[in-house]
Amino acid sequence: MALSLYVHIPFCIKRCIYCDFVSGIYDPEKALAYIEALKKEILEIPNGTPLATLYIGGGTPTALPVNALSDLINCISGHFDFIENHEATIEANPGTLDKEKLRVIRSSGINRISIGAQSFNDDELSFLGRIHNHEEIEQAVHLSRDAGFENIGIDLIYGLPGQSINSWRKTLERAVSLKPKHISAYELTVEKGTLLYKFFQGGVEKPEPSDEDKIIEMYNHTVDYLIFNGFIHYEISNFGMPDYFSRHNLNYWNRGEYYGAGLGAHSFINEKRFYNTDNLDEYLRLISENKSTVKESQDITGDRALSEAIFLGLRKTEGLNVESFSRRYNKNILSLFHKEIRDLQEAGLIEIRGAGCSYETNVRLTKKGLLLSNEVFEKFI
Ligand code: SF4
Repeated sequence: MALSLYVHIPFCIKRCIYCDFVSGIYDPEKALAYIEALKKEILEIPNGTPLATLYIGGGTPTALPVNALSDLINCISGHFDFIENHEATIEANPGTLDKEKLRVIRSSGINRISIGAQSFNDDELSFLGRIHNHEEIEQAVHLSRDAGFENIGIDLIYGLPGQSINSWRKTLERAVSLKPKHISAYELTVEKGTLLYKFFQGGVEKPEPSDEDKIIEMYNHTVDYLIFNGFIHYEISNFGMPDYFSRHNLNYWNRGEYYGAGLGAHSFINEKRFYNTDNLDEYLRLISENKSTVKESQDITGDRALSEAIFLGLRKTEGLNVESFSRRYNKNILSLFHKEIRDLQEAGLIEIRGAGCSYETNVRLTKKGLLLSNEVFEKFI
């Protein structure tokens, strides 16, 4: 099975109001100390298996100066072998890109760029606290293509307070017109501790959340419009041109193994999930003292592994293959979860496709189930 590496860069130029990722404001000195520590952590990761995918995410990796970025990427590619046709992604904020940075990133071996656009409406971008406008997104896509990136993804968010269906339609149209290979469209969620959460708790401003019917209309339109434009809907919120699905994320949904390096990064190796401290000073200190940065580790076996396999696998629109599941977990999902599956089928949230012989049989979410996926997942936890 494929091995992946995730590398976390916990710095941003400015905090977006909805963000609950492990990230703080970019500080040049701290960032340099962090990169040195991160390289040390990466060099400790066993490198016997070649990487199928690399993902440098954040935070905003492209907030780093170009020499720090190339230093980091060179460290990774010096330590690991990669399989042929590997996928190496970097997340990029349109407000942090220029020609030279993109050229260096591309020539150091990164072959996929995921651009955090979120919206093409400048009022919405400003509400979200983004540091760029819609023109900078367009420029980022063009500059990336000029730098040699063919595999370009655009990330979007819908369901903003006050957002009209029409505005979301326009955002999708602008995104598609730039001809990316991949589009992610996530519903805005209000996480505790974010500025957005405070707004909703009765802070200085109190925007109204989009209502549920509008969210459903936006989601259904997203699916229909992107499929009409040649994208394949392969995961609840992800759409790719044929051969351009995110292989790194598919590895997560398939419960493949991965290492995570950096602040708060998670790993999953030998049925064990472990994650690093998310405190920057502690991370730097532990590395300088040659100590482990792992904060917690858990064995994911037995029932826990089964339910994880189900709720991760059902995220994919093809669902779970009954035969593959039984080969890997030695259980027949249809009999093991007979009652849950029957109830969900009756509720119109799950369907069994290709019943007849098990190697052709998949359990998957229906269109309604894709919209109510959390309700489905709860049944398996
Ligand atoms: S750019 Fe991304 S990681 Fe940084 S604050 Fe905004 S949403 Fe969070």
